[in-house]
Amino acid sequence: MDLPAYTPDDAPVPEGEVVVERACTAQDLGPRLNRTAADVVRFLMQQGEMVTATQSLSDDMIELFVADLGVEIRMVDPGEEQEVELLKLLDVVDDLDDDDAPVRPPIVTVMGHVDHGKTTLLDQIRNANVVDDEAGGITQHIGAYQAERNGRLLTFIDTPGHEAFTAMRARGASSTDIVILVVAADDGVMPQTVEALDHARAADVPIIVAVNKIDRENADSQKVLGQLAEHDLVPESWGGDTITVEVSAIQNLGIGDLLDNLNVLAELEDLRADPEGRSQGVVLESFLDVGRGPVATVLVQRGTLKVGDPLVAGAAWGRVRALVDDHGNQVKEAGPSVPVQVLGLSDVADAGEGFVVAPNEKIAGRVADKRGHWRRQSNIGRDAHALSGGARLEDIFEQIQKGEAATLNLIVKADVNGSLEAVTESLRKLEREDVKLAFVHRAVGRITENDIQLAATSNATIIGFNVRPERKAREMADTENVEVRSYEIIYKLIEDIESAMLGLLAPEFEEIVTGDAEVREIFSVPRVGKIAGCYVTNGTITRGSKVRFLREGVIIWKGEVSSLRRFKDDVREVQSGFECGIGLSDYQDLKNGDVIETFEEREISSD
Ligand code: GDP
Repeated sequence: MDLPAYTPDDAPVPEGEVVVERACTAQDLGPRLNRTAADVVRFLMQQGEMVTATQSLSDDMIELFVADLGVEIRMVDPGEEQEVELLKLLDVVDDLDDDDAPVRPPIVTVMGHVDHGKTTLLDQIRNANVVDDEAGGITQHIGAYQAERNGRLLTFIDTPGHEAFTAMRARGASSTDIVILVVAADDGVMPQTVEALDHARAADVPIIVAVNKIDRENADSQKVLGQLAEHDLVPESWGGDTITVEVSAIQNLGIGDLLDNLNVLAELEDLRADPEGRSQGVVLESFLDVGRGPVATVLVQRGTLKVGDPLVAGAAWGRVRALVDDHGNQVKEAGPSVPVQVLGLSDVADAGEGFVVAPNEKIAGRVADKRGHWRRQSNIGRDAHALSGGARLEDIFEQIQKGEAATLNLIVKADVNGSLEAVTESLRKLEREDVKLAFVHRAVGRITENDIQLAATSNATIIGFNVRPERKAREMADTENVEVRSYEIIYKLIEDIESAMLGLLAPEFEEIVTGDAEVREIFSVPRVGKIAGCYVTNGTITRGSKVRFLREGVIIWKGEVSSLRRFKDDVREVQSGFECGIGLSDYQDLKNGDVIETFEEREISSD
């Protein structure tokens, strides 16, 4: 581009606050501020930022430009303004409380200092007071459960602690009616007790104190009450209005009393919800299950959620295929305050995300797709480095050597939330003064075309932990020149990234996928075991080659193709477009729809 130098022109800038969308282009930004796209590009060029008129701008670039003009802006996420329209489409009810509606069970979260007995208390309540289960299912940890006391139900969130509670609140979800603050009578009020207290207060949620471990010899309840009073939780016995109950979670003492008091408090709060109408609620947790696909535990806050409902949760959607309750039983519906696992969603929804049943499936799909689109956009913009100077793994050393602060752009995908957190934590520890990491996107699930697209636009490297790209995504990665690295062992992943930072990353071996086959039918052959009736969708499957066995993009087994047949004959290889029978050494857990991926390791010449 050959543009004359930027000279700010005299056209008046807009008065008052201008709304600017994150990740907008020079073409969008210029006209909003009475300038042309060329003005924006020229200005940024003078600041050393090379962008085209149609390229997304980072937050920093936008701020630089508006600061120069002296305009006041409010930066919004792409889609934030459009979200209002989407909510209209979904016809969402704002007011969840309904004075005329029936009473609903309270939703209770347990908080407190580590080791004060939160988990023990939750387990004890669950075991001693579970709702009679006629179908005889086993209790399942789905993230929340219901207990009964004197014929009244109470819903408990099963993951104690204020981190999850606050993460939910950060997303605007209020999912708790009452907090039980657990304080060990032998240890007293500790830093996390105070923290939990502050979080509950910030959310304006009533608190009941459970003074736990009163069975201990050195228990001193009075001392605990004194400490609580110091933090403005004055116990009823001292003339205040904080309910305190002495319990021993381990010996099951005082638990009934605690439940009675929860019921009293719930009654005071007058919690109601309409069980009629399209259901709304909140996602408590969610993960990708091998075999079942994305699974989300939701808490219904209004209406009754039913199998077959078209549901939207953030950017995930789907027709509810099955509902599973806290006993592992399949149920047909779930009313207010009932926690259930939902199967049938397209993606893993984030915890704290609201859900709503859409008027129809078409609207559900449209809203989720639009949200997905906007969210990817805002990911690009939010990470300033991602566009201005961030680097891929293979270039990172070069950047470090230039003496500039280097940033490594990463997209991390993993099989479950736990491993995603573990990988992110370990990676963060690698950050140095001169090398920062920018997580452009982190999520649970297989590596998709969207991930590749995001990596291409944001100059990022994709790290997969126990997950693989689907075939289309892999092909796109090749054409877009996006590096995808899959790992199954964290230390190996860390070692590689560390080496890259030291300029030592020599990918000695590269894995080349040689063939893909889709499992269409399973045969049991006496003395041989299970044989997968497959259709080869890509490349060639060869006997003896190394394979990865994938379900929903998650690696569930690695080994070798031990037998390969066409009809009754043993063959050496089968080409794309043909059917065949594949035996996988000792692996037997096969399912229709699984993918068998064969690969070769080739040494890479370092020229
Ligand atoms: P959390 O970290 O708050 O979830 O605490 P846990 O429920 O894991 O309990 C921490 C430890 O305290 C465990 O060893 C429990 O067995 C013990 N504990 C919990 N409740 C009681 C109690 O009422 N009495 C006694 N003596 N020990 C308890």
